[in-house]
Amino acid sequence: MKYDLHSHTTASDGELSPDALIARAREADIDVLAITDHDTLAAYGEIDQSTLRGLTLIPGTELSTQWQKNNVHIVGLNLPLDDSAFNDAIASQQRSRIERASIIADKLAKKGFADILPGVLEKAGKGSIGRPHFAQQLVEIGAVKSHEEAFKKYLGTGKTGDVKQVWPQLDEVVGWIRDAGGTAVLAHPDKYRLTRSKLHRLTDDFIAAGGEAIEVVSGKQDKVRTRELAKLCVEKNLLASSGSDFHQPGKFWAELGQQSPLPEECTPVWDRW
Ligand code: AMP
Ligand code: MN
Ligand code: MN
Ligand code: MN
Repeated sequence: MKYDLHSHTTASDGELSPDALIARAREADIDVLAITDHDTLAAYGEIDQSTLRGLTLIPGTELSTQWQKNNVHIVGLNLPLDDSAFNDAIASQQRSRIERASIIADKLAKKGFADILPGVLEKAGKGSIGRPHFAQQLVEIGAVKSHEEAFKKYLGTGKTGDVKQVWPQLDEVVGWIRDAGGTAVLAHPDKYRLTRSKLHRLTDDFIAAGGEAIEVVSGKQDKVRTRELAKLCVEKNLLASSGSDFHQPGKFWAELGQQSPLPEECTPVWDRW
């Protein structure tokens, strides 16, 4: 069975519509797919069920949180689509995204890029507004040559556009997922660039809040890091998840379903479903 439990669509910062993503997953022979757009479940409302043909969809989302001044992402899997408390939480994340977008726009205006918000809003469309839409707009106005340059100069960790104070604390967000009956997964632990001891503390806090799994395999992650994360996963008695974090075809992002297999010592999160 082939699993990909982390992917994005136009409902957030992915390039493909939900139906196009599903078509691509079927071409890649994926059996079980989770669409995990940033702070939204909207993709699930757009899917034409007749296109699934044997593909199992696991309702999910990738929630933005704060942990000790870091912006940490928590994937929620197997979520109900009609839980009113969870939908309220999603709505509050959406409001935070809009609030954050105007803060980022004001900060970029001070750097000399005036009035970029309308173009950014247009790029986000109906989807969750995020930093990648700012990156697109900065490319369009000629402020930078590429997305990568936009993140490197203005939007990435520690730069002007890295605004994280709007996000709720990690334990609160894990609680939302638990209360809705879903499984909380610590997303791409390698991306936070934490020291070994900080990553252990993050994992302990995540477990204390009710977190159950970590992404041992994420996208094009280095093999050495995968082995280290497998060790952490076993040591902390967590379940293991695997996802491409696919956003669009091309070099920067991993292709859908192309992640390396989970190390054998790990118990896959899907074994519990
Ligand atoms: P946000 O969800 O608005 O905080 O934006 C985070 C998103 O930006 C990630 O999910 C990626 O899609 C994208 N991203 C983060 N770092 C980079 C980078 N260095 N280059 C391009 N895209 C990035
Ligand atoms: Mn993204
Ligand atoms: Mn993420
Ligand atoms: Mn993601």
